[in-house]
Amino acid sequence: MSQEHAGTESLENLLHETRSFPPPADFAARANVTASAYEDAARDREQFWARQARELLSWSTDFTEVLDFSGAPVARWFGDGRLNAAYNAVDRHVEAGHGERVAIHFEGEPGDTRTITYADLKDEVSRAANALTDLGVRTGDRVAIYLPLVPEAVIAMLACARVGAAHSVVFGGFSAEALHARIIDAEARVVVTADGGYRRGKAMALKPAVDEAIAKGGTPVEHVLVVRRTGQDTAMTDGRDVWWDDTVATASAEHEPVAVDAENPLFILYTSGTTGKPKGIMHTTGGFLTQTAYTVRAVFDLKPETDVYWCTADVGWVTGHSYVTYGPLVNGATQVLYEGTPDTPDKDRWWQIVAKYGVTILYTAPTAIRTAMKWGEELPGRHDLSSLRLLGSVGEPINPEAWMWYRRVIGGDRAPVVDTWWQTETGAIMISPLPGVTAAKPGSAQTPLPGISADVLDEAGQPVPDGHGGYLVLTEPWPAMLRGIWGDPQRYQDTYWSRFPGKYFAGDGAKKDEDGDVWLLGRVDDVMNISGHRLSTTEIESALVSHPVVAEAAVVGAKDDTTGQAVVAFVILRAEAVERADEEGEGADVVAELRNHVAKEIGPIAKPRSILVVAELPKTRSGKIMRRLLRDVAEGRPAGDVTTLADSSVMEQISTGMSG
Ligand code: ATP
Ligand code: MG
Repeated sequence: MSQEHAGTESLENLLHETRSFPPPADFAARANVTASAYEDAARDREQFWARQARELLSWSTDFTEVLDFSGAPVARWFGDGRLNAAYNAVDRHVEAGHGERVAIHFEGEPGDTRTITYADLKDEVSRAANALTDLGVRTGDRVAIYLPLVPEAVIAMLACARVGAAHSVVFGGFSAEALHARIIDAEARVVVTADGGYRRGKAMALKPAVDEAIAKGGTPVEHVLVVRRTGQDTAMTDGRDVWWDDTVATASAEHEPVAVDAENPLFILYTSGTTGKPKGIMHTTGGFLTQTAYTVRAVFDLKPETDVYWCTADVGWVTGHSYVTYGPLVNGATQVLYEGTPDTPDKDRWWQIVAKYGVTILYTAPTAIRTAMKWGEELPGRHDLSSLRLLGSVGEPINPEAWMWYRRVIGGDRAPVVDTWWQTETGAIMISPLPGVTAAKPGSAQTPLPGISADVLDEAGQPVPDGHGGYLVLTEPWPAMLRGIWGDPQRYQDTYWSRFPGKYFAGDGAKKDEDGDVWLLGRVDDVMNISGHRLSTTEIESALVSHPVVAEAAVVGAKDDTTGQAVVAFVILRAEAVERADEEGEGADVVAELRNHVAKEIGPIAKPRSILVVAELPKTRSGKIMRRLLRDVAEGRPAGDVTTLADSSVMEQISTGMSG
C-alpha cells in the first residue's frame, strides 16, 4: 500500500492473479465489436448511444434529443422518440423475412419440447395482447406476471409491452405474501399465472398462491389469466379468472403494436433482496432496449443467423428480462428456454441440453458453476459441449478458480469467458471484457463497456490509484439506468446518489489492479475489519476456492475480542474430496490445511479463525450467498430476516453444525 494513500484506503488488495487469456485469433477476427468501439464512444458518448439506438432499434418516431439529465438523478434518453418494444423484439424480424427462424427452443422439465419461430411468436404475442385488452388492460397500466419458466412468460411480457402496459414479473418461487405485496405496490389490475409448473420432477401448483394473495385484500386485481401447464385441478373464480386456452388461443392474431414514448415504463422489477428488503426498480423503454440490444451484440458477440443462445436465468430476475426476453429477441436470436432445475432427472441435464440444441453461447451464474464443480467434472464430460464458443457469468463475483473450471471443463479451454458486472438497477451489462478484444483475467470484470463510465473511489470520494480498493461508482448516466424506485423518488435519491453526490453508488466494493482493470470485491455491507485492516469477503473466498478440495466458500467477519472482527469461513467441499474425507476420517486436517492455505495465498491477516464444512450455503432465490445470515450464526445470534432465502432449512443445518 502506498503511504500517501493509506489513510483513505477503504479496501485492501490481497489477491494477486496473473493468468490472462487473449481472445483466440479467429474469434477476434470475426468479432462484432472491436477495440475502436472504445474510441468511438470516448469521442462522443451521447452520439455513440444515439447511433446504437438507431442501428439496433426501429423507431416509429425518430428522436432529436439524446440525453436530458436536467432532472437528475432521473435521466431521459431519446425522450422525444417513440417505439414499441414488442415490435422491435418480434414483428420486424418477420417483416425482414426471418419469420421461419426459431426464436425459442423450449425444453420442459419433464422432457416435453416446443419450437417457436418468430412468426409463431408474433401471432402468440398479438393474441395475448388482444386478450389483455379484452380484460381491460390499457396503455400505462401494470400487469403482474407470476409464471414458471415457460414460453408464455416471455409472451406475456411482450404482450404487455405491445399494448404499452408495464409488467411486474414476480418469481414463481415466491410466496403468496411476496406476490400480494408486489401486486399492491405496482397496482396491477391483471395477474397472469399458470395452474403450476414442473420443479424437481413434481407439478408445483401456482394458482392457489394467486388466490391467496388476492384474498388477503386490498389489491386492484380484476382478472387472472391462467396458463394450463401441468393440468392439475385448479379452482377458478367466476367472472375473475379465465384460461389462457379460452381467451388467448381464440383471440385474433392481428394486433397493432402501440407506439409509446421512449420513457414509457416498460417494467417494474424487485431486486433479489441479498442485502435487505427488495426495491421496486423502474425501467423505461428506449434506453433499456438500446443497451440490452447493444450488450448482446458486443459482449456475447451474438450472430443471429448461426448462434444458439442460452441464458439460464429465470424471467423472475433482471437477467431474465434483459438477457432472455428483450436483448436476444431484439437481436433476432435463437435461444433455449429450460423450465426446470439442473439436477432433474440427473445432474447432467444442462450439459445434455447444450449438446442437444448445439448451444453456442451460455450465460449463467457463479452459483451454478460452483455447484457443477461440486458435483464433479465427470458429468459435463459425458456430453459433447464443443458447440460452445462463448461463456458468460453474472450475479456474484466469480472466484478465479471457478472461472478456470468454467473455461476448461465447459468451454474446452477454447471459449472466451466474460464476467459481466451489472445490477437490476443498471438494467444491462456495465463492466465486462469484450470477447474479441480483451485479454481476459480469471475473476475480473475488467473494463467499463464502450459508452459506460465507472470508477473506484476512496472514503473521501477521490478515485483510488491503480492497485487499490474502494467503492464502485458510475460517473455518467447510461441508457438502461433505472428511472427510479416505483412510487418512492426519495428512496431512489437516498439509496444511490447520497454517498457520493452526483455519482451513482452501486453498493459494491471493487479494486483497480496495476493495469487499471476492475475487480469486484463483494458488497460493502460485507466488508470486514480485522485489526484495523478492511478486507473484502471475495478475495478470501477465492483463496479458499483455489484449494482443490473446495467447491464453494462464504466468508464473514464475526466479533472478536482481540482483533475487533475475525474471519469465519463456511466451505462446501467437492464431491471427490468428501468421499476421500469420509474414507480416511481427515475432516479436521482439511480445516487446518485450508486455514494455512489462506494464510499462504493472501497473508496471515486473512487466516480464518474458524472454518465450518457445510453441505449448503444460505442463498437468495436467485442463487446469491446471503452473508448477513452467516454473520448472525457466527456471532451466535438467531438468523435475521430469512424471507428472501431459497431454502430455510439450510440455516438450521448450519446453526446445528456451528454449535455442535
Ligand atoms: P438487493 O439490492 O435487494 O440486496 P441484489 O443486489 O442481490 O439485491 P441484483 O440486482 O440481482 O440484486 O444483484 C446485483 C448485485 O449482484 C450487484 O450489486 C453485485 O453485488 C452482484 N453482481 C452481479 N454481477 C456481478 C459480477 N459479475 N461480479 C461481482 N458481483 C456481481
Ligand atoms: Mg443490490
